Parts: sequence; structure tokens; C-alpha cells
Amino acid sequence: MSTMVFCRGCGKEIHASARACPACGATQRAGSGKNKVVAGVLAILLGSFGIHRFYLGQWWGLLYILFCWTFVPGLIGLIEGIFFLVMNDEDWDAKYN
Ligand SMILES: [Zn+2]
Repeated sequence: MSTMVFCRGCGKEIHASARACPACGATQRAGSGKNKVVAGVLAILLGSFGIHRFYLGQWWGLLYILFCWTFVPGLIGLIEGIFFLVMNDEDWDAKYN
């Protein structure tokens, strides 16, 4: 799959996976622009309710709400939040963007 996007800096057409524009050097936000820090903080604070999963567009965040009366989703959320925050940007973009 080869998707082209427009550079945010100069408007030149560049490949969607490009980290920076080859023409002007402006860094590009890949894909849908889901922010791993936002997802990580949501997971840590609201992990019990699966808010971070909804943020990532994953319907099965519903399972978190279903089991939020146990400690399990909160614990999973905390671990996922830390995992999101330490994940490097390339892995994040590959997985969620
Ligand atoms: Zn450019």
C-alpha cells in the first residue's frame, strides 16, 4: 500500500510513512495522529473504564467498563499506560496510527 499525503510545511506530496518532508524537512505526524502520551495518561487515570481503548478506536474498551467493579481493568490500564508512555514513536505509529 502506497499512500501519499501532503506536507504540513510546504504542501508537497510525500509518502505517508515519511517521518519528515524530503523537500522542506518539516516533521510529519503520521496516520490518524493518536497521541501516545494522551492514551497513556487516559489509561493510567481512567483505565478502569477503558477510556484509552475508546480513544484508540477499540470497541472492546466496553469490556473494561463491564469489569470495572473488579481491580483488574484498572490494573491493566495502569500497565498499558506505562507501556504506551515508554513505547517508541515508530512502534506506536505502526500499531495505532
Ligand atoms: Zn515540506
